[in-house]
Amino acid sequence: MQYDPDNIFAKILRKEIPSECVYEDDTTYAFMDIMPRADGHLLVIPKDPARNTLDATPKQLADVMASVQRLSHAVMKAFGADGVTLQQFNEAAGGQEVFHLHFHVLPRHTGQPLRAPGQMGDMTAIAEHAERIRAALA
Ligand code: AMP
Repeated sequence: MQYDPDNIFAKILRKEIPSECVYEDDTTYAFMDIMPRADGHLLVIPKDPARNTLDATPKQLADVMASVQRLSHAVMKAFGADGVTLQQFNEAAGGQEVFHLHFHVLPRHTGQPLRAPGQMGDMTAIAEHAERIRAALA
């Protein structure tokens, strides 16, 4: 399976479409999911092309995981969360819909289920949640 440079996250990295960025460094980028399954649901991606875990380099995976851990601490603090769920899907059969490697970071509260997938979020609320995460990182 080949990397498609026209996937939506590649377009986000090239700033061809907007995103609500919460963190970036030399090799990784983190932004809010527009269909949040929990308040604070965000995605962490490598800046260099990788379709998913199967073709990513060990360094890409290491860099992304370092940012995932940093963002996990940030959402714990920003949302007073009790835990964090990480999700990552590989190929369509594995549940992947966007073919640029990404990890979902989902703050969780005891007894609160995730919302159903595929529901567009309120962009004003998402922007406010992003601000809370940026403040927690500062
Ligand atoms: P999956 O590949 O199954 O992990 O799903 C892709 C995820 O990307 C879903 O949670 C979508 O809500 C999210 N998503 C799709 N397009 C965008 C976008 N333009 N900005 C932010 N998140 C997106």
